[in-house]
Amino acid sequence: MSVINQESVETKLNLFEGLKTYDHEQIVFCQDNATGLKAIIAIHNTVLGPGLGGTRMWAYSNEQDAINDVMRLSRGMTYKAALAGLNLGGAKAVIIGDAKTHKTEALMRKFGRFVENLNGKYITAEDVGTTTLDMEHIRKETEHVVGLPKNMGGGGDPSPVTAFGVYMGMKASAKHAWGNDGLSGKTIAIQGIGKVGGHLIDYLTKEGAKIYVADINDEAVNHYVNKYGCIGVPTQDIIGLDVDVFAPCALGAVLNTENIEKLKCSIVCGAANNQLADEKVHGPMLVKQGIAYAPDYLVNAGGLINVYQEHNGYVEERAMSATEKIYDICLAIHKKAADEGTHTQQAANSLAEKRINDIMKVHSTY
Ligand code: NAD
Repeated sequence: MSVINQESVETKLNLFEGLKTYDHEQIVFCQDNATGLKAIIAIHNTVLGPGLGGTRMWAYSNEQDAINDVMRLSRGMTYKAALAGLNLGGAKAVIIGDAKTHKTEALMRKFGRFVENLNGKYITAEDVGTTTLDMEHIRKETEHVVGLPKNMGGGGDPSPVTAFGVYMGMKASAKHAWGNDGLSGKTIAIQGIGKVGGHLIDYLTKEGAKIYVADINDEAVNHYVNKYGCIGVPTQDIIGLDVDVFAPCALGAVLNTENIEKLKCSIVCGAANNQLADEKVHGPMLVKQGIAYAPDYLVNAGGLINVYQEHNGYVEERAMSATEKIYDICLAIHKKAADEGTHTQQAANSLAEKRINDIMKVHSTY
């Protein structure tokens, strides 16, 4: 055992300053020489329930980047769960390493044992770099994992439910903007027609909307043009189309200064995470342009709502009816933002914070 000198003690104390930045409860570092596991589990807030958030596997260029990522993402999960009305807190995990070359069954199972050690305070799920098969491996070591395939009692691919939530958010935004939530005859531009964008097209065509699509994958564009009668648009033109609704379903940070100036729509509502490049700048900018923005982390919460249902035994109808509530929440957020003269992301954040603070008081009695 080495003697700890004063300098290293100070470094450790600085770590706690880091935890205070976003007000995290607990950070767990998981290390195992035999499997090469290096993981960080960040539990941000468990006032509403156990922290649920996916495990991302990524070849971070340094440990600080991994810590920053897991802290930022876990905080986001707290807000998402709170706003969606779930009895869940926010957490997230990252495994440092290349998912293509470093991932083994043993590594995932070892990670599962670290999750198990937290006794249900953290529930893991799939994220970038992890798959349903990884969740199956983790399940061999702990019950605290969701996002399992249907044949293991899980909800399977959450994308259809996510798309339904986006559709609900879009209808609520239409109601707010036009006094009527019908989308028949409305023009809608979808950026990114992958798993969520594709299912969204299903809902929108059934309602009679006119849909423009753009994707870097030409095959996907051809499929939706031929099968659903969508109109294909070059990727660089989709943002500036003169349409009623712009639906970002591909990339984050798409609502930046340059792109917002190009927008000609009345509503932005899509599945992509972290659409506002800087919410303090771009939230107000959208308001100034008269655009009703449906907060991304609300309208894409269907995936989280779906996996949450696995906790009580997955029933698809229950997942869909819980996701349908995104309509009412989205409408309330548009109204709150308009009443308070603020932007919708700010209104959403303050609703989420209010719920956490209110429930914290409920829990103050034994
Ligand atoms: P996906 O990978 O299946 O689809 C994304 C699509 O965007 C792909 O077809 C890709 O080719 C396209 N794309 C990438 N760059 C593009 C560009 N520059 N221009 C146009 N198209 C581009 O992903 P997904 O599961 O459909 O998720 C879409 C978004 O929604 C992501 O941001 C994801 O994080 C978010 N999200 C998804 C879920 C879910 O349940 N799948 C839940 C919450 C949030």
